[in-house]
Amino acid sequence: MATGTFATAFGCIDGRTTAPTTTFLKETLGVDFVDYVSEPGPDKVLLQATPTDLAAIKQKLLVSVNAHRSRTIAVVAHHDCAGHPVPRAEHLAAVRQCAQLVRGWDLGVRVLGLWVNDQWQLEVICDTQEQGRDSAMHARPR
Ligand SMILES: [Zn+2]
Repeated sequence: MATGTFATAFGCIDGRTTAPTTTFLKETLGVDFVDYVSEPGPDKVLLQATPTDLAAIKQKLLVSVNAHRSRTIAVVAHHDCAGHPVPRAEHLAAVRQCAQLVRGWDLGVRVLGLWVNDQWQLEVICDTQEQGRDSAMHARPR
């Protein structure tokens, strides 16, 4: 069993997004480490995946949840995504759909939908811990 606490990110391969996302999740959730599963255009990949591809992604996320006891999975889309070059509004809608999809797996984890904006800052788009709400979560210092 790994030592320390973990959260899980499902985001893009884009190197501009991974560091700020990891930092944000560590600071917001108070975890020691962030496991990162990446695909180019993650919000598109998840929503357009074949059942086989979807199972493979789920399996990767499950390693983090099961072996590292991650309690949170964050689906992360971002500005200027080469893998899914669509306007911000489309990304935000896709992120919400992705979060619902992951929530539907019923893994017993909190599911966040995140957006990395044009300043490479994180915005919370949705959070299953805020039932029925869609507002931003504000990071609090530990
Ligand atoms: Zn991208």
